[in-house]
Amino acid sequence: MKTDLSRRSFFRMAAAASAVAAMPIFTEPQLAHAQRRRFARVIPPGAVRIDANENPLGPCSGACAVMSSLLPEGGRYDMELTQKLVDTFSAQEGLSSDYVLVYAGSSEPLHYTVLAFTSPQRSLVVADPSYEAPMYAAKYSGAKIVKVPLAADYSHDVRAMVAADPNAGVLYICNPNNPTGTITTRADIEYALANKPKGSILLVDEAYIHFSDATPSLDLVRADKDLIVLRTFSKVYGMAGLRCGLAIGRPDLLAKIQTYGMNSNPILAVAAATSSLQTPELVPQRRKINTDIRTDVFSWLSANNYKFIPSQTNCFMVDTGRPGREVMTAMAQRNVYIGRVWPIWPTYVRITVGTRSEMDQFQVALREVMTSPTPASVHAQDPATLAALGTRDLPPRSAKLLI
Ligand code: PLP
Repeated sequence: MKTDLSRRSFFRMAAAASAVAAMPIFTEPQLAHAQRRRFARVIPPGAVRIDANENPLGPCSGACAVMSSLLPEGGRYDMELTQKLVDTFSAQEGLSSDYVLVYAGSSEPLHYTVLAFTSPQRSLVVADPSYEAPMYAAKYSGAKIVKVPLAADYSHDVRAMVAADPNAGVLYICNPNNPTGTITTRADIEYALANKPKGSILLVDEAYIHFSDATPSLDLVRADKDLIVLRTFSKVYGMAGLRCGLAIGRPDLLAKIQTYGMNSNPILAVAAATSSLQTPELVPQRRKINTDIRTDVFSWLSANNYKFIPSQTNCFMVDTGRPGREVMTAMAQRNVYIGRVWPIWPTYVRITVGTRSEMDQFQVALREVMTSPTPASVHAQDPATLAALGTRDLPPRSAKLLI
């Protein structure tokens, strides 16, 4: 009996190990491509790209200068540069440096946290709609996925999330949320921490925090609570293609995610990230640019009676009142590539805040699309039809479909 059990658990572990070995790391551009590939495999040069929450401003000038001067050193691994980033960030945030891990983007630690803390016995609890990458990782840990609709104010419904499954392993809170750009309050995050199922952790994804008024959760890490916070240099710092992100948490929690993989970091990325952190005016400047453009777009949307969700980040959702997939296609025909649709809200599309000129082109294209005849399929406004249209080709379930 004992032998049978240990054999079974060995095979379970081996199966888990092989699933993990095959796990792709999903990021925004792959998820955007998954819905776009129906009508465009690539985005043509010169098109308006407001589909993947990128920052059109790119890295700041200081980061560019550091990278140029470092380029000839590209033959070296130079681990010291990663350590300098850890030391800079932890000193700024009042953390001990063993509370910070550096990765090539936050997607890696996001997936590894789900693998480390969920299993067939310990579920993943997410808001709906929210960023989907943790759900893809959960497919590889074999965890049940429990989706909890956002509250009426578009915050995470933390009361429903903590009650969703007594055996939860991870509660994922994206603050501010992707795709809605809405905030979950500090009080709610504290409630989730105090009431989460025993043995579970919070994964608080702060990819968009710099654009918003949301209260960061790093002091909860300093207080040794059961949470891992993710930060990325892909958004406000404009370094998505350079790849740099951080996992911040108690060393015993970080040790668990490290077992799933660590690599040498790209030296240009970590040096640019350090330089960005050392540029104190950068975040307020970029936040203002983003807020100003977004506010103007919202005024235009309101003036034209388009329904949207007030966001505090570099993306927002518009309810088009027709299948969002069709709007995406029609916009692409006008050379404007917008973001995707979540199954729970099939008539909403997610828009990234681009430059002023890009948002001008977005407005022209959206007006044209919205004033053209509604496809016959939608006239009935039948919820089942809309839902079917909205979920027709969801982001892929396997790496094969994506890559
Ligand atoms: N988390 C959220 C909510 C995101 O939207 C993204 C990307 O858009 C990521 C994490 C991953 O970003 P990266 O791997 O570029 O750091």
